[in-house]
Amino acid sequence: MTETLAYPIDLHTHSLRSDGAYAPAEVVHRAAARGVRIQALSDHDTLMGAAEAVAEGERLGVRVIPSTELNTESEWGDVHVLGYFLDPNDAALEDRLRWLRENRGRRIELMVEKLNALGFSVRLERVLEIAQGGALGRPHLAQALFEAGHVPTYDAAFATLISKESPAYVARVGLTPHEAVALVRTHRGVPSLAHPRTVIDLDALLPQIVDAGLAGIECYYGSHTPESTVRYLSLAARYDLVPTGGSDFHGRGEHGAPLGGVRVPEASISALEAKRGSAGAEPPPSPYHSEPVGSQR
Ligand code: AMP
Ligand code: ZN
Ligand code: FE
Ligand code: FE
Repeated sequence: MTETLAYPIDLHTHSLRSDGAYAPAEVVHRAAARGVRIQALSDHDTLMGAAEAVAEGERLGVRVIPSTELNTESEWGDVHVLGYFLDPNDAALEDRLRWLRENRGRRIELMVEKLNALGFSVRLERVLEIAQGGALGRPHLAQALFEAGHVPTYDAAFATLISKESPAYVARVGLTPHEAVALVRTHRGVPSLAHPRTVIDLDALLPQIVDAGLAGIECYYGSHTPESTVRYLSLAARYDLVPTGGSDFHGRGEHGAPLGGVRVPEASISALEAKRGSAGAEPPPSPYHSEPVGSQR
């Protein structure tokens, strides 16, 4: 049976506080214009846009859920963990997020150095200008490479110069998938696995991160086929995970769905709320003593 949707819900969006193209209030404004009434602002490794987004949401009738997306580093491929209902005023959480953002910055610096050495000249100052103070990421670098004329389109940068296979690529230093899930739980948030299609060996990883406290899985996503959505829904049922979903809006038309354009049932919101504050896991092992990103050269 299909639930009739009263209004769009979008549980995965990005702003200028990380690698999105619009300010937090502007993203909420655009979501409201598309009828969205519940939105998670899920900037990478930061909650800095939350206050602005919540305030704009209150003005426009959009309930904004303060959230973040933690991109991890491991042999499991691209495992991104969404953390919902986090507290932007949690100082201990902010310490951890700051460490992740510093690693992001160092990684992009190293990629700029490598690109310059390979003959694709790009200025770090320009990348920082494009980021406007947001958590640095490859999208900012892609934009700078496009502007410099090294790639024909923004998307082409991801396919060539800054892909995992490129000699300019630098791996991130950060959390493992298990640590990311535990970090969200430790700080009383609700973790959901983003776009599970990018995980290597999902069937093996999923039970492990469920043990670490995973509460949801992003079943509804722009680039999912109907078959993959069915598969993720069955995994959600098997592991008692809340089916979440969102556009992964960054403002550049990527990831296959417009803002508010992915079907998310309202029942998922109450189910996520029911998972709040439960199963407070032990704090994960501290990542502060990991090798600095500079050692990867
Ligand atoms: P980073 O966190 O620096 O590794 O950059 C990852 C981000 O780049 C993701 O959150 C996506 O939004 C974006 N991204 C990754 N691959 C692509 C792609 N092929 N085309 C456009 N954006 C991408
Ligand atoms: Zn992003
Ligand atoms: Fe992601
Ligand atoms: Fe995302």
